[in-house]
Amino acid sequence: MKDALDISICDAVEARRDDMVALCADLIRIPTLNPPGLNYREVCSYLAERLAKSGFKVEMIRAEGAPADSAKHPRWNIVARYAGAEAGECVHFNGHHDVVEVGHGWSVDPFGGEVKDGRVYGRGACDMKGGLAASVIAAEAFIAACPDFKGSIEISATADEESGGFGGVAYLAQQGYFDHVDHVIIPEPLHKDRICLGHRGVWWAELETKGRIAHGSMPFLGDCAVRHMGAVLEEMERTLFPLLATKHTEMPVIPDGAKQSTLNINSIHGGEAEQDPDYTGLPAPCVPDRCRIVLDRRFLIEEDIGDVKAEVTTLMERVKAERPSFEYEIRDLFEVQPSMTDRDAPVVQTVAHAIEKVLEKAPEYVVSPGTYDQKHIDRIGKLKNCIAYGPGVLDLAHQPDEWVGIDDMADSAKVMALTLRELLGP
Ligand SMILES: [Zn+2]
Repeated sequence: MKDALDISICDAVEARRDDMVALCADLIRIPTLNPPGLNYREVCSYLAERLAKSGFKVEMIRAEGAPADSAKHPRWNIVARYAGAEAGECVHFNGHHDVVEVGHGWSVDPFGGEVKDGRVYGRGACDMKGGLAASVIAAEAFIAACPDFKGSIEISATADEESGGFGGVAYLAQQGYFDHVDHVIIPEPLHKDRICLGHRGVWWAELETKGRIAHGSMPFLGDCAVRHMGAVLEEMERTLFPLLATKHTEMPVIPDGAKQSTLNINSIHGGEAEQDPDYTGLPAPCVPDRCRIVLDRRFLIEEDIGDVKAEVTTLMERVKAERPSFEYEIRDLFEVQPSMTDRDAPVVQTVAHAIEKVLEKAPEYVVSPGTYDQKHIDRIGKLKNCIAYGPGVLDLAHQPDEWVGIDDMADSAKVMALTLRELLGP
C-alpha cells in the first residue's frame, strides 16, 4: 500500500511523463553506434547539461587507454551526483549510452525518436535509452518530492556495454567510482515487474585446425584443415551438444532455453580469404592449411570455467587420436564469471517492495542469459548489491523497430523513485 508520500512521489513522476518521453526521444536522436563508438561525447554532453540543470554535480570522464579508445572515437562517460541534506547511503543508477548497429527491416527512422501508440521507437529505445530516461526522471521526481533526503543519488551513462564495457563501467570501477556506492540499479530492459539478479558466465575462444597447403588438383600432397574442422564439428554434434543439454541450473535464467549450458559457433573461416565483391576472377586451387571457428560458450554458476575449457580440449584430443596428422590451437578471447546477487540483498528487497506498491504484484526474479555491466561492478567494483531493473521487453533489444512503452517507462520510474525513498528517504 502506498502512503501519502509514496503517492506524491508517484505524482511527481507522472507530472514528468512528457519530459521523460522527450528525454528518451532526444537520446535516441543521438546515434551512439557501437562499434565504432559514435557521438559518445555528444550524448554525454547532452545528459551533463540536463543533470547540471537539475542540480547534479557532473563529471565527464574519458576512458583513456581503454580498448577502442582513440582520438577519433574517444570513450566518454558521465557520472552525475546529487548529495542529500545529510550523510547516508549512495544509490547509483548505471545506464549504457551505446547502441548496436541498425540492421535491416525498419519501418520507422531508427534515429527519429518517433512517438506513436504509446511507444517511443528507435535504435536503443528499449536497450537502453528508455531505462536511462526513466532513471533520470525517477531521481528528479524523488528529489523534488523529498528535498531533505539522506545520502546521495548518482546517475552514470557509460560507453561500450555492447562491446564488453571496458571503456565504460569497467574503467569507472577501476578508477574507484563504485568504492563508496552502496546500491546499484542498471535499468536494462528486463521489464517493469522483473528483478534481474545477474547473468550466466561466458567463454569465447577461437579454435584453429592446421593442415598443409598444396595444389588443389593433388590434395593428397597436402592436408586439408577444413576436413579436420569438419571432424571437430561432427564430434561436437555427437558428444558436446548433447552433454551441454544435460546441464541444468538452479539460476532463474530466462528464457527457458537458457536454463542449460549453451554453445554457439559464431563463425567459421577456412582456406583462401574471401575476395571483395567486385572481384570477378576465379579462386585459386589450394588445399586449405587453416580453418578457424569462434566459440561462444555460456556457462552456469554450477560450472567451473576450467572444466568448461577442458571439455573442448578433451574433445580435440579425441578427434586428434583419430586423425593424427593435424595440429590445433585454442585461443581464449574473452571470459566472464557468472554473477548472481542474493535475493536477500538490500537493493533486491527494496525494489521488490516498490514493485509491489506500484504494480500491486510480486516481482519475478530472473537471471539474464547474456552478460551486462553487472560483471564489472561485481568483479572490479567488488559490489554484490547490484541488480538490473528497467522498462522494456528484452526480446526487442537489437531488433528492427525497437520500441519502449511509455506506460512501462513511467511505472518503472515510479518503482525506482519509491526505491530511493525507502533507501534514502525521510
Ligand atoms: Zn543493454
